[in-house]
Amino acid sequence: MRDTRDQRLHQTPTEFQTRLGNQQISAHLRVVRPLVLGHGLTALVIVAAFFPIVASVPLLAWAAAMLIACAHRIELARAFLRAGRRANPSHARWLFGNSVALGALHAAMLFWLWPQCADLPEYRLLLAMTSITLIAGSTFALASLPRAASTYLSLACGALMLLLLTQVGVASVATALLVSGASIVLFRQLAGVRRQFASRIMRDLELARSQDTIRMLLNDDDGKGADWLFELDSACRIVNSSDRFAAALGVARSELNGSAFIDLFAPSRERTRLHDHLTQKRAFRGLTMALATRAGDDPIWWSVSARPSRRLAHASVAFRGVIGDISATKRAEARVRHMANYDGMTGLPNRLMFNSALAQMVAKDVVRQRMVLLLVDIDHFKSVNDTLGHPIGDQLLKEFSQRLVDLVGDSRLAGEGSIVARLGGDEFAILMGGEDSADQAIRLAELLVTRMAEPFVISGNPIESGASIGMAISPFDGETADQLLHNATLALHFSKDQGRGRWERFEQAMDTQVRERHALERDLRHALVRNELRLFLQPIVDVATRSRKGYEALVRWESVERGLVMPNDFIPLAEETGLIVGLGEWVIRTAMAEAAAWQEPLMIAVNVSPAQLRSPNFLPTIIHGLADTGLDPGRLEIEITEGVLLNDSAANLAVLHKLHGLGVRVSLDDFGTGYSSLNYLQLVPFDKIKIDRSFVSGMETRADCRAIVSSVIELADQLDMVTLAEGVEEESQLEMLRDKGCTMAQGWLFGKAMPAAHYAPQALRDSEKNQHAA
Ligand code: C2E
Ligand code: CA
Ligand code: CA
Repeated sequence: MRDTRDQRLHQTPTEFQTRLGNQQISAHLRVVRPLVLGHGLTALVIVAAFFPIVASVPLLAWAAAMLIACAHRIELARAFLRAGRRANPSHARWLFGNSVALGALHAAMLFWLWPQCADLPEYRLLLAMTSITLIAGSTFALASLPRAASTYLSLACGALMLLLLTQVGVASVATALLVSGASIVLFRQLAGVRRQFASRIMRDLELARSQDTIRMLLNDDDGKGADWLFELDSACRIVNSSDRFAAALGVARSELNGSAFIDLFAPSRERTRLHDHLTQKRAFRGLTMALATRAGDDPIWWSVSARPSRRLAHASVAFRGVIGDISATKRAEARVRHMANYDGMTGLPNRLMFNSALAQMVAKDVVRQRMVLLLVDIDHFKSVNDTLGHPIGDQLLKEFSQRLVDLVGDSRLAGEGSIVARLGGDEFAILMGGEDSADQAIRLAELLVTRMAEPFVISGNPIESGASIGMAISPFDGETADQLLHNATLALHFSKDQGRGRWERFEQAMDTQVRERHALERDLRHALVRNELRLFLQPIVDVATRSRKGYEALVRWESVERGLVMPNDFIPLAEETGLIVGLGEWVIRTAMAEAAAWQEPLMIAVNVSPAQLRSPNFLPTIIHGLADTGLDPGRLEIEITEGVLLNDSAANLAVLHKLHGLGVRVSLDDFGTGYSSLNYLQLVPFDKIKIDRSFVSGMETRADCRAIVSSVIELADQLDMVTLAEGVEEESQLEMLRDKGCTMAQGWLFGKAMPAAHYAPQALRDSEKNQHAA
């Protein structure tokens, strides 16, 4: 078998070539007629036009040669069709030769006639036009035969260009250049067509080869698949058995003869049919039955066909038939069935099988009594995959599923009809039925959470993962498969939101929450279109002088349905859904326009989320905004949090450096609430650190808050950064900040966030000022 396969592989290049040839010629056949027609007509037109002015004999000889070439080409096409669209090497050669002949005749016509009409511009025009038409048409018609096409193209274009170049004058040279440009385009086109043909044929070959392999696997089982004959007497006992028949059963012929045929097979519906056919002396065909083999052996499957014997000469033979061993086919079918129902990676039932098990349990009304669905997700699977590579990720999947199976098995929680499945990706499901299943599931969930939190050791790497679990219990949490799945999924999301590594059972509130989120998202989308966003400003002051330095832009959503919505209620959702990009652009543009209209050159600070920074539109928005409003970049400040530096930090850093390069200032918001941010201070070109409100408000009562505020101010001083204390509400707080050397402050003590117009007197708009002046 291997030999034949190897031979097949070695034959591939020629097979490939043959197929390529056949397909190319087949494609060409469709355009043979226009090609021939074009050349024939050209010959007639040329003869008619030039007959009065050139020697008639060579002209007629040329036209005759052209017509012969055309006729020959038609004959070649017919021969190819007669051969069943199969080209032999001579076909291809002749087609090529014929194309060369057409090209040569074309070139000859040009070389001969061109000099003869030196004083007849309209004749030259006729020659050039016919030539160009023929070149374009022929390249198109020969496109599927790239070698023929390029030869034709070289001959005809070459001749035309040569003649144009012998002419003096700018126009001729320009035309020659145009012709050469066009021919280059045509050549490239031809190469593309050839590649297309080749890849299509490679695909076909690939397909044919895999079909061959499947066929070989199914049938050619070292001759075991060959059929053999059998005969039965009137009592349906085996008679005249052959050696092969006996060998197939591993018994002696003498032992086989006389035994009841039906006893060979294991009980099944097909065997009952066999019994009926035999007793009623009816012919039958293709009954497939497993042999009654000993337990543990691979089942052997036979396909049996037979008809009653009517030949008197063989009166002792009542049935004569044929048996084929179809075990290999059956095994392959079983494999295919297995592949359709089980996950290749973990060997667990897949989503398909899980769905049908779930449907069955629902149909059997288990669901009305008690049934539990657990959805289990591997925590941090994506980051394992991304950082350690897919092989480790695959291994984690396997180990995780092994632990899952072991736990379900060990705790003997898998009742009848229970199933552990991999639904795809890093998501698993456990389905349990039975009266105690709810208690069992809760115990199992606890166990899973603890066990999966223990590190997995994969190729020597200890990997911290964990399981997040969502649970739905029937009939309370749903009575249909869809409801249970939906609600278990909600519970799973909830447990992930709550910090992973835990289990949650579905609660009605989760459903309500999700619905509310959807509604909020929908309304927020509309808010952008309906212009419901408002820009609020909060003053920023100098700690020493209390003079106003600028404003922070804080967005509000004035919803028709919801009233004034605060950012904490929609910014997180906008960040998750990506709406923040559009929303943030609005804020940036509006804030810049606002600041540009102020009379005093105060600064404007704008909050920017990580997702905005990653958006390719971010920098262009800033740059266009600066250009459109004429705002001095030094007055614009971008506030980011440390979160920006956690993911994609390299890309984000690059953006921050570009901003800095533009002269825009960058400040670090909510300092102290994030991660080990001191390291980042070195990396990022921060101009300002905003000390979070939590430290400011704790300053008076807590020593640790005071210490943090002091050390941030010292550190910022060393790094030449400005410090801004957020959430200053009391004079006493301001006093302390002044003592510690904090530069700027912001908070209710100086003013709450208000609609931009509220602060208009201090940041007087040009327009209003002008109005006053008038
Ligand atoms: P943030 O950038 O830390 O803004 C400061 C928040 O503290 C503001 O809440 C402000 O109104 C509030 N605040 C200011 N002074 C005081 C005070 O003395 N006492 C108290 N208790 N609170 C004070 P707001 O406007 O609700 O904004 C909340 C957060 O929403 C902001 O925190 C910011 O992270 C985000 N945000 C607001 N506008 C935008 C925006 O346009 N884009 C983005 N990406 N995020 C924004
Ligand atoms: Ca801020
Ligand atoms: Ca802040």
